[in-house]
Amino acid sequence: MILKQIEEINKIRDSAQLVSKTLGLMAREIKPGVDSLYLDKIAEEFILDNNAKPGFKGYNNFPNTLCVSVNNQVVHGIPCSKPLNNGDIISVDCGVIKDGYYGDHAYTFKVGDVSEKIEKLLNVTKDSLYIGIEKMQVNNRVGDIGSAIQNYVNQYGYGIVRELVGHGLGKNLHEEPEIPNYGKSGTGKILKDGLVLAIEPMINMGTEKIRLEDDGWTFVTQDGLVSAHFEHNIAIINGEPEILSTFDFIYDELGIDSNEEIKFKKFFNS
Ligand code: MG
Ligand code: MG
Repeated sequence: MILKQIEEINKIRDSAQLVSKTLGLMAREIKPGVDSLYLDKIAEEFILDNNAKPGFKGYNNFPNTLCVSVNNQVVHGIPCSKPLNNGDIISVDCGVIKDGYYGDHAYTFKVGDVSEKIEKLLNVTKDSLYIGIEKMQVNNRVGDIGSAIQNYVNQYGYGIVRELVGHGLGKNLHEEPEIPNYGKSGTGKILKDGLVLAIEPMINMGTEKIRLEDDGWTFVTQDGLVSAHFEHNIAIINGEPEILSTFDFIYDELGIDSNEEIKFKKFFNS
């Protein structure tokens, strides 16, 4: 477990905020008829214009700047020329590296109007992220995070993806410890000041079971039902979680009065 000094945390915050702004741009562009290769191009240009580099492009040979996962795709989808349709959902996961430190976060967007059922999955998944973050207190354990997410999500009967997890973040895109979105409270590594995590629940409408597509990257649900994914970057500072990324740029773009930023205000520095 790599613990960071405040100067390093501030660099991760800069990278995370650039991802946040990139996702804000995506909120403006995502609509029926738009394709994800176009989104990828805009994101890459924006990141390069801001003196940073895409964090995913070339990582284990991933070909693009964004991971875009539509409907039954869970995560790690590759941008393509297929237009988005009204009623789709698209998870956009973006990484950048700036001044040697990574930011890595994600939001699942609605394309036009989605069904109430899908809207509920999105809200529960997003809330579960904050419920996990709430447990990121000094002397809590890794299992407390996953257990809180699991207990919350289970009430709705959704599937929690097991194979993919959150992670530490810093000079590397993926650092120890792994942060599963399920677990037992009181187990796992003890959380300490200076720990920086990417917490990222991946929640399926139906079965938790996923499989990897032939492209070697895209994970899809085994039952073909939709999946949602939200991710923040969080540091423990003075014993408490502080969210380094923000969805505010998205909400500004969409004209949303965000519920969680009120419910979970205490975790925001602004
Ligand atoms: Mg990510
Ligand atoms: Mg991540």
